[in-house]
Amino acid sequence: MTASNTIKRKASGPKTPINWRLTMFVVGLVGLFAATCVMLLLEEQRRESERLADTVGFELATYSAASIAKPLAQRDLATVRARLEELDKTSHIRAIELIDADGVSPIERIGRIEADFAAETIKAARAAGAVRSVSGPDQLMLAAPVLHNEAVIAVIAISVSRASLEGPETHRDVLMFWLLAAMVALSAPLTLLYIRRTFEPLRALETYILELTKLEGDAPLDASGLDEFARIAQGISALRDRLDSAQRRVSKLSFVDAVTNLPNQEHFNKVVREQIEAMLPTGEIGSVLLLSLDRLNRIAETFGQAAAQELLAIAGQKLEKALRTVDAHVRIGTFNQHPAMAARLPGHEFGILVSRIGDPAEGHRYAQMLTAALGQPIEWREQKINLGVAAGAAIVPRDAVDVDTAMRHARLALNASRADQKGLRFFTPALDQDAHARMTLEREMREALERNEFRAYMQPKVCFSRNKIIGCEALARWVRADRSLVSPGVFIPAAEETGLISPISEAILRDACWKAAAWTREGLKAHVAVNVSPLQFEDERFPQRVEKILKQSGLDGHLLELEITESAAMTDMSQVLKMIEPLRAKGVKFAIDDFGTGHSSLAVLTRLPFDMIKIDQQFIRRLSEDSQAPTIVETILAMAASLNFETIAEGIETEEQARFLRLRGCAIGQGFLYGPALPVADFVEMLRAEQVIAARDLRGFAA
Ligand code: C2E
Ligand code: MG
Ligand code: MG
Repeated sequence: MTASNTIKRKASGPKTPINWRLTMFVVGLVGLFAATCVMLLLEEQRRESERLADTVGFELATYSAASIAKPLAQRDLATVRARLEELDKTSHIRAIELIDADGVSPIERIGRIEADFAAETIKAARAAGAVRSVSGPDQLMLAAPVLHNEAVIAVIAISVSRASLEGPETHRDVLMFWLLAAMVALSAPLTLLYIRRTFEPLRALETYILELTKLEGDAPLDASGLDEFARIAQGISALRDRLDSAQRRVSKLSFVDAVTNLPNQEHFNKVVREQIEAMLPTGEIGSVLLLSLDRLNRIAETFGQAAAQELLAIAGQKLEKALRTVDAHVRIGTFNQHPAMAARLPGHEFGILVSRIGDPAEGHRYAQMLTAALGQPIEWREQKINLGVAAGAAIVPRDAVDVDTAMRHARLALNASRADQKGLRFFTPALDQDAHARMTLEREMREALERNEFRAYMQPKVCFSRNKIIGCEALARWVRADRSLVSPGVFIPAAEETGLISPISEAILRDACWKAAAWTREGLKAHVAVNVSPLQFEDERFPQRVEKILKQSGLDGHLLELEITESAAMTDMSQVLKMIEPLRAKGVKFAIDDFGTGHSSLAVLTRLPFDMIKIDQQFIRRLSEDSQAPTIVETILAMAASLNFETIAEGIETEEQARFLRLRGCAIGQGFLYGPALPVADFVEMLRAEQVIAARDLRGFAA
């Protein structure tokens, strides 16, 4: 269920119990508001009454002064008194006093209530010739000049009762107050209802957030004494903590390899980038090392992926341990601040960054020690396993100022170390040039394939017992447009690396089959042997491809031999059988090429349906130089005889070597002694000549 759904469900669900705290808070708030309003209203009312009393008093005083001005000027005191008494009858006036210019009262004070007239105010009114007033708690005293012919002839002082002036207004205020109070009392429940409705989603949100933040195993949230906002705030902060820790977990996972627990490629690249950038301005150097466990593929094929992963994890731990030891030995002084870092890279590879090394030699020493440490066999399931470590390294920022180039250069060095089986190689600019040269070569090879420039040259094979050519080996030659020859030593390794070996080998197979079919049709007898690359052998359709070529060329399967290198033959027995058997049924023979250079096990040899063994030329070459070589050759020949393999010795250059082999029972010889790989026309010429000689001999014998 999504968050918004949950909130909706809660908001429209059953009534939540009244929250008294909230209700009291709202009622208090509304009451306070109403009271403030009433107080403000009353205060305003009081001021208004005062203003009104002032105005009425002012008018009263002015009127009194005006009404007695004339009789007073005429000293008609009786009229003055009568008028003032008339005035006194109004309920507002408490007392009246008249003070003439001499400060004497010409008439007796008139009044129902005793009043204190402030002499100061009377003096002020007289001096200003205008009304002056002074306000007491319940009375207002006003002094007004009595003017005659614009001269102040007396001052009349009046005391006015405030209560009488304000009385009826005050009653209205009280009424208003009660009206307001009633309104507040009525509106409060409505306001409460409204607020409750408004707060309902907020409460649902609060409950939802609190539920969300209840982590498994966490103590429940103690919410007592907290209001909704504080609880929501607490919930949100807990939620943020949870998100933070989840994010930390995710970012850790995205930077750590699950199998080895080491940093992964992404993290490694990041650190290498940072370190290169940090070392660039200071002139310091470091090394980026690439370690590959080349035998893990084979181990995965034999024991399964899980076993390979297990070994990878063990290797990772071993590497980490070795790293710390080597670090402390080689990088004395610097390893504490900048410890070396190991990371798991895709496939079966590790990347190691050692920053701030003293000089490239230190990098070499470091890499050598580490490669040697990981190169030691690993104890696993009661056996010792060799992981086949190959390593390549680059010095940064000397060889590369960015991660991609550093990794590419380390890989070039790794490939070179694999090629020369040295275990460890450091990058040199020559490797980069080689890589570029290989790229050019690859492009040229593709073009050469399209132009049909790969041709089969035939090297004769001689039968020792009959001393005659019985066949040949088709060897690939690249005949460029300018007729120059490129030998397989140059292009075969590059073709194998790029996968071009398959189309090239197939072109040679086709060429060889067509040529052999042609000389057979001419009546010449010689089989043809063709080399098969391990890559071709991995292709399921290989037998069908060969059959098709045999059919198209018209060559009898019995005249074709396929040579497979020892290492390819020993890879996967069931796969080899699948490839061999349909073709053997057509009469095609199979030979193990370069025998003695691989790791054939006798058990495998006896079970593989091969027809012949080709003893590698290095043993033949060493026959006269190396005291062990003759024994090795004799052993191979004896073993082949007992297993019913036919034997061929390649690389025979001298009569002495030929004699040795013939005497030890070797059946067939091949080498420069009998001829190099020749263009087909020359080889056919050789065959023809041999048959002419044979025929002449036969005639001579008959004669
Ligand atoms: P390989 O199949 O063992 O072929 C024998 C190599 O030894 C040939 O070298 C041949 O010229 C050389 N050789 C023969 N006799 C002598 C001798 O008396 N002395 C010396 N020093 N060398 C001798 P090449 O033609 O350079 O071929 C090298 C390798 O290239 C072959 O070894 C084979 O593994 C591979 N190759 C050649 N053609 C093809 C092909 O069409 N397909 C595949 N997959 N591999 C091929
Ligand atoms: Mg061969
Ligand atoms: Mg060979």
